Amino acid sequence: MAIHLSTSVAALPGIGAGAAKDLKNLGVVCVRDLLEYFPFRYDDFSKIKAIADLRHGDTVTVTGRIRAIESRQAKNRRLTLTEAIVEDGTGEIKVIWFNQPYLEKTLSIGKVVSLAGTVDSKFGKTLVNPIYEAAHTNIHTGRIVPVYGRTGALTIRRLRGAMQTALAAADEIVEWLPGKVRGQEHWPDEPEALRAVHFPKDNQELARAIERLKFDELFLHQMLFAEVRRQKEVKEAKAWAIDESYLKEFVQRLPFELTTDQKMAVWEIVQDCAKDHPMNRLLEGDVGSGKTVVAAMALAHAIKQGGKAAYLAPTEILAKQVHQELSKYLSGVEVALFTAGQVKLGQEEISRNNLLALLARGDCACVVGTQTLIQEGVSLPDLGLIVIDEQHRFGVRQRHALLETGDRPAPHLLSMTATPIPRSLALTLYGDLQLSIIRQKPKGRKPIATRIAFEKAKAAMWQQVEAEIKNGHRAYVICPLIDPSDKLGTQSVTETAQVLSKGVLKKVKVGILHGKLKSDEKEQVMNDFKSGRIEVLVATTVVEVGVDVPDATMMVILGAERFGLAQLHQLRGRVGRSERQSYCYLAPETFSSNTKERLMAMVHCEDGFELAERDLQLRGAGNVFGTAQSGFPDFKLATVGDADLIKKAHEWAQEILAKDPHLDRKPLLRQKIDDALAQAHLE
Ligand code: ADP
Ligand code: MG
Repeated sequence: MAIHLSTSVAALPGIGAGAAKDLKNLGVVCVRDLLEYFPFRYDDFSKIKAIADLRHGDTVTVTGRIRAIESRQAKNRRLTLTEAIVEDGTGEIKVIWFNQPYLEKTLSIGKVVSLAGTVDSKFGKTLVNPIYEAAHTNIHTGRIVPVYGRTGALTIRRLRGAMQTALAAADEIVEWLPGKVRGQEHWPDEPEALRAVHFPKDNQELARAIERLKFDELFLHQMLFAEVRRQKEVKEAKAWAIDESYLKEFVQRLPFELTTDQKMAVWEIVQDCAKDHPMNRLLEGDVGSGKTVVAAMALAHAIKQGGKAAYLAPTEILAKQVHQELSKYLSGVEVALFTAGQVKLGQEEISRNNLLALLARGDCACVVGTQTLIQEGVSLPDLGLIVIDEQHRFGVRQRHALLETGDRPAPHLLSMTATPIPRSLALTLYGDLQLSIIRQKPKGRKPIATRIAFEKAKAAMWQQVEAEIKNGHRAYVICPLIDPSDKLGTQSVTETAQVLSKGVLKKVKVGILHGKLKSDEKEQVMNDFKSGRIEVLVATTVVEVGVDVPDATMMVILGAERFGLAQLHQLRGRVGRSERQSYCYLAPETFSSNTKERLMAMVHCEDGFELAERDLQLRGAGNVFGTAQSGFPDFKLATVGDADLIKKAHEWAQEILAKDPHLDRKPLLRQKIDDALAQAHLE
C-alpha cells in the first residue's frame, strides 16, 4: 500500500489498533502527524568498532555472529538472564540481556547481528542490554538513533520502524518557507529536515534540521499573531464606561488592601475596556502577587454593565479554585464552572447539556472552564471579556478559537501569566500587546527561606517537614518525571510516596496527586490537603500553577536540577501564601557546577523576573529540547532558550509582511497560515 501524508497511522506496519489509539492521545492520527512527532533525545551509536578495539565505556555498534546464546534464571531474583557470545573475526564479546528470554529464539546461533550499547569491562568485556537488529539494517543501531517518549502499547522499535516507512511520504510536502529565508539561513527543505530530525546522518545535519523546524514554529507563530492582529484591527468592541463608585465599593468589600500594582493593573484594564476596540493586555505577576482578584474586578465591572465573560484556566484544579474565588468576589452573579469532570451553575451541579444551552442562549454572565470551553459544540456567543490564565499553556490556535468567533463587537482579552517573560521577549513573541506588571507582593509576606539539600542534609530536611506538620502546617513534595513514557508522573509520585510514608514520614499523613487521577479524585485530594486530612502532598508539577493552600509552608523539590529556574520559582510560589514563615528545599539528585549555579540563583533571588532572565543566560540556546518551559508558548521543539531564533523569526516575519502584507505573492505561505487558522477552529 502506498503511504501518503494523509494515510492513517493504523495502516503502517507494526502499528495495530491499540497503538493507533495511544498515538491518537498524543495528537498523532495520520502520517503527517507522525512525522511531526519528534524524538525527545538521541542515542549516538554511530561509532562502529571491531570487537578487538572495544574499550570500557565505549558507546558503539558492533556487528558479529552469534556463537552461543542461552537463557537462565538468576539466583534469588525474579530475573531472567540471556547470555550470548558474539564474534566478528577480531575477537569476541559477552552480551547480557535482562528479562528478554525470547531473544534466545530471535537471535539464534549463527545469525549475524548489529548490537549497540555501552561496553563494560569490569568483569571481562561485556555489552549489557544492547539494542539489536539484523546486521547493517541501520534503524536501531550503527547510527544516531532517535528516542521517542513512547506511550502505551507502542514500543520504541515499532515506532522507529513505522517512522521509517512514514518518511517515504515526506516528499509530498510542498515547501512553504520562502526560498529567500531558506537560502540565506542555509536550511534544508522540510522533507529533508524531517528525515534528518528522525534519522540524522550526523550531528551537524541534525542540528540544522532542528534549527529549521524550530524556526518553522516560531515563524508561523509570528505570522499567526500578525494575522490575528490584522483581523482584529477592523473589529470594534463593546465599550464599558468606567464606573468608579462601583470599583470603590468592590475594593471596600475585600478582606485585604490591594497593592499599588494591583490597583494600577485594574485601572489599566478598565481603561482599555472603556475603548471601543478590543483590549489585548497581558498581566504579568509573580506567583502569589494576586492576579485573580485583579481579573475578578475587571470581570465584575464588565458584568455589572451587562457584559458576558469567560475565564479560561489551564487545569481542572485551577478552574475549580478560580470558580470558588469568583463566586465569592462576584456577589449576586451565578458563576458557572465547565470542566471535563464537573459542571456547575453557582454551587449547584447541573448537566453538561443544561449549561451548554444556557451558554448558547447567552444566559450565563460568567463561566470558568478548562480547554472544554473551546471544544467543538460549545457556543459562547457575544462575549465581552475573556480572561486567559497562565496564557502560555494555551497555544495560539486555542486562543484564536476563543477569540475569532466572528462576533461583532469582539471581546476584550486579558491574558495572565505567573512566569515573568522578559518584556522584550514578550513583545517579540506576542507583538503589540499591552503589558501590566505586578511586582509587589501583598503586605506581610515573608521571603521564602530557600535552601539546597544535598544527600547529607536530607535527613534534617525531612525532620523539618515533620516539625512543620506538627505545627499544623502542610508540605508539598514535588517529584520530577523520571521515565519519559510516564508522562503523567504516576510512577515517580507513587514510588516516592510509598518510600516516604514507610520511612522518614511514617508519622505523617501522606497523599498523592498526579496527572492520571480523575478530576473528582484530584479535587478530593486537594480538599483533603486544604483541610489537613492530608498533611504532605507528594505531587508532580500539577500543582505548579495557581494552587492556593495558605497553610502550606514547606516545599521540597526532588530532582530539582531537572527543572528550569522559572519553573522552580513557580513551584516555590505554592508556599509563602500567608504571614507564616515558609521554606523551600531544593534537593538535587545529581550535581554539577551548572546545577549549583542555577540552584544558588534560587537561594539568593526572589524576583521571578530576574530568575527568568538568569534562566535564559544559564541555559542558553540550543538546549536539550522537550523540557517543560513555562512562560512560553507550547511548541514541540522551540524553547525560551532559542532567543536568537525567536529574534530571527520576528525579523523575517516583519520583513515579509512589510513587502507583501496579504502575502499575495506567497501563496504557499498564505495557504500554510490559513490552514493553521482553520485548524484553530477545529481543535
Ligand atoms: P496569583 O497571582 O499567583 O494568581 P492569587 O491571585 O492566587 O495569586 O493570590 C494569592 C493569594 O493572595 C490569594 O489567597 C489572595 O486572596 C491573596 N491576595 C491577593 N491580593 C492580596 C492583597 N493585596 N493582600 C493580601 N492578600 C492578597
Ligand atoms: Mg493565579
